Amino acid sequence: MIEREQPLGISPGGVPVVADVDVVVIGGGPGGFAAALRARREGCTVVMVERFDMPGGVHTSGLQGAANTGVGGIHTELMDRFDREGCLYTADEISLPDWAGNPLAHYDHYLAPGSPFKRTSFNPDGAGNVMVRMLEEAGVQAIYGASFVDVEMDRDGEGRRITHAIIETVAGRQALRGRVFVEGTGTAEVVARCGAPFVSGGGRQPETVTADPEQRPIPGGLLWIMNGVDFAQTAAYQRQENDPTLSRLINKARAAGDIPPELYRPRMDGGKNVYGEHYIGHPTVDMSPIHGPGSFILWQNVPYEWALHMDEDAAHASRAKVELRRLIHAEARFLTKYVPGFQNAVIAHVGRYVGVRDGRHPIGEYVFSIDDARQERRFPDAVTRPMTKTFFWDAYRKYTFEVPYRCFLPKEVNNLLLTGASLSFTFETIFMVMRNFPWCTQTGEIAGLAAARSVQAGITPKQLPWTEPLF
Ligand SMILES: Cc1cc2nc3c(=O)[nH]c(=O)nc-3n(C[C@H](O)[C@H](O)[C@H](O)COP(=O)(O)OP(=O)(O)OC[C@H]3O[C@@H](n4cnc5c(N)ncnc54)[C@H](O)[C@@H]3O)c2cc1C
Repeated sequence: MIEREQPLGISPGGVPVVADVDVVVIGGGPGGFAAALRARREGCTVVMVERFDMPGGVHTSGLQGAANTGVGGIHTELMDRFDREGCLYTADEISLPDWAGNPLAHYDHYLAPGSPFKRTSFNPDGAGNVMVRMLEEAGVQAIYGASFVDVEMDRDGEGRRITHAIIETVAGRQALRGRVFVEGTGTAEVVARCGAPFVSGGGRQPETVTADPEQRPIPGGLLWIMNGVDFAQTAAYQRQENDPTLSRLINKARAAGDIPPELYRPRMDGGKNVYGEHYIGHPTVDMSPIHGPGSFILWQNVPYEWALHMDEDAAHASRAKVELRRLIHAEARFLTKYVPGFQNAVIAHVGRYVGVRDGRHPIGEYVFSIDDARQERRFPDAVTRPMTKTFFWDAYRKYTFEVPYRCFLPKEVNNLLLTGASLSFTFETIFMVMRNFPWCTQTGEIAGLAAARSVQAGITPKQLPWTEPLF
């Protein structure tokens, strides 16, 4: 007979308490995973709650397996471990000739045709298994298949503090009591449930070159995998028929009524294309090698003009799931029916969730803005050494910048730390600059260390002085 879990008590809101720990991490994406691991390794008791069955977020459950060279700390450890455990696959000019410079290549289309390249991806499910084990080895108590839904809070001086995170499980609602909480949802859901301030997706700074007066969020996307592709045949067709973007096949399928209007549009309706081809729907087939030869990941983006706020509106979230599945079905049908090399291909996997690219942006004690980058401002509480990155959203300019610790501290809540895509950064600065896997893992690790230092000192993260960069 299975012994039932006994609650540790009842929260002030009347919910059975099932954990009482130093640090509660909500969401196990790259940010939450690294925060949980680091806080535990610093000696804290840690609970991490994750809606799906593994950590990794967009990069495992969402199938986005792009691997990067280690940038230090847990990120480097992860990449090494994925490699040792056989989860990495690298395509290059030998295994995939005709890929560099090919317009169908999501990442590598800008290379000179035929040039040497290496495109490494990790197998999302294999990597997820590794991440599950790493948390177990460290002694993090991970709760999978449970959704964070609410908070209970107390007053704390001028602000407030979270006392319990409320989760929905197969056993009903349960409460996790903690001293410090970490926002790892990728969409600042904890901030929203706390009633703390944020800017909704699409709320960009008006002075940036690409600002959209209608404030539509950058579309999210659902990733999916096709196996059984003979790309040599596809490339031979592209060459022989001088059809690099498959536009002749697309037009043929469109004329036969085989492609819904939302697929493969060269420009969004109305001729306005402020966000670049990748983010307006699908100008063309958009893919990247994954797993092994013949296996590719494809991108299904929400059409831009639908302006879905998938993190804030339940009807939008549901519509995205249904419509993107419809588009995936249509794209797979087009590829297998019309495109040489795809005739034996099959849909192998569709991501467990539609990733949000431009969700809520929390307002922290400091909001890192494009001016901080442009002026290359330095901060006494920098958590990183100066980093130089391309600010895609500021006309591809390069700036050298630092991240202040105050970007981890949401306004009004004294014991919550932000990580990953939910840092207190404006849209232009988080997008393509700080929200990628390596930096989300780093900011998660910084938050985990800050949580541990706060617990050990008996203070809140807001009271913690930060004087030296970690990375
Ligand atoms: C379509 C798409 C493509 C991308 N491509 C790239 C790329 O090529 N390279 C790159 O580096 N980055 C890419 N990114 C960006 C990157 O994936 C994200 O910015 C990054 O994963 C954010 O990390 P995170 O830890 O903040 O959140 P996420 O990765 O979003 O993880 C959040 C986790 O929290 C869980 N969660 C959320 N809400 C709850 C809840 N209420 N209860 C319990 N659990 C919850 C989720 O299940 C998830 O596991 C892409 C993003 C998208 C959406």
